[in-house]
Amino acid sequence: MTTHASRRPIVAEFSGSALRQNADRARALTAPSGKVFAVIKADAYGHGLLEVAARLSPAVDGFAILELSAAQALRQHGYDGPILMLEGFFKADELQVFSQWQLDTVIHCTDQIQTLTLTQLSQPLNVFLKLNTGMNRLGFTLEEAAAAFDALKQLPQVRSVTVMTHFADADNDRGTGWQLERLAAAWPEAGLYRTSFANSAALLAGPADRQKLGDLVRPGIMLYGASPWGANDPAKTATALGLAPVMSLKSAIIGIQHLQPGDRVGYGGTFTADQAMTIGIVACGYADGYPRHGSNQAPLLVNGVRTRVVGRVSMDMMCCDLTNVPDAQIGSPVVLWGEGLPADEVADAACTIAYELFCALAPRVPRIWRD
Ligand SMILES: *Cc1c(COP(=O)(O)O)cnc(C)c1O
Repeated sequence: MTTHASRRPIVAEFSGSALRQNADRARALTAPSGKVFAVIKADAYGHGLLEVAARLSPAVDGFAILELSAAQALRQHGYDGPILMLEGFFKADELQVFSQWQLDTVIHCTDQIQTLTLTQLSQPLNVFLKLNTGMNRLGFTLEEAAAAFDALKQLPQVRSVTVMTHFADADNDRGTGWQLERLAAAWPEAGLYRTSFANSAALLAGPADRQKLGDLVRPGIMLYGASPWGANDPAKTATALGLAPVMSLKSAIIGIQHLQPGDRVGYGGTFTADQAMTIGIVACGYADGYPRHGSNQAPLLVNGVRTRVVGRVSMDMMCCDLTNVPDAQIGSPVVLWGEGLPADEVADAACTIAYELFCALAPRVPRIWRD
């Protein structure tokens, strides 16, 4: 029996050279002695774990991830550098796996210290002590920090302890200083140890004092070529920040309709033509990962010309205005985001962030790496 590859024109194309360019950018923003751990959780933000890891491993010092199966896949494919598990272990039985595969672990609560204390390991682990400096998600309070550090230091199961925190406002006016000030005030010795602080926004915001990034930085979104600030601040778009899009979601026009004034488009007829116009039907819908909130709103390129979605995005299709693209026909190429159209702009029009668009790319979309 022969199977046929889908002829539906949608495809996600990935650029390895863009990925490397963005990684070089992260490296350039890191202190010369600093380490860069590329964050490749969530299947490398939807880009493909192993494809991304293979291309990034020569350019970075380690990877940060959350899923145990993904960490095992990296090891099984021969990656033997550091892997940091960003949420650590959830149950005691994972610890042997951490030890066997040499996975560095976040420790964010007393429960995890107790579990570690009660488990004998074949090889000790590098531990990242996660502190809650104001995000109020995971982490020890600053009052608990020094005692937790000392407790971990003494365990035979622990090889090294790195002090870690995560910034809540690196991409807005509140910035990162307030969290570091809290840390320094509550536990001045923290700065004597190895530290890990910065995400993409903190790196790109570029504090003059690179110590404020920590010794080990954890960029994620910038590696994929989107801006932590989205599309609205011209000084902080992905392009302005020197980032190149890695993922381009592409499709084609598969149908054309000529509307008369008063004709409506799509489910619920949420768009009404106020004059005669031509619309194109694009083979891409929310089942491909395109945000339904982009209905009547989001930009797209047809034949390289910018236009917008009209009507509701449906499961497999969406419609777009072809008024400004008179030469469009069936088969005309469409860019949903990526090359020539930043994902940040589409995300913005759909009231979300590029992170969510990337992570939502559906398995049914074929993927091609260009280099
Ligand atoms: C996801 C994550 C990052 C990366 O954040 P970006 O905004 O994508 O750079 C860094 N650190 C931790 C703990 C994370 O969970």
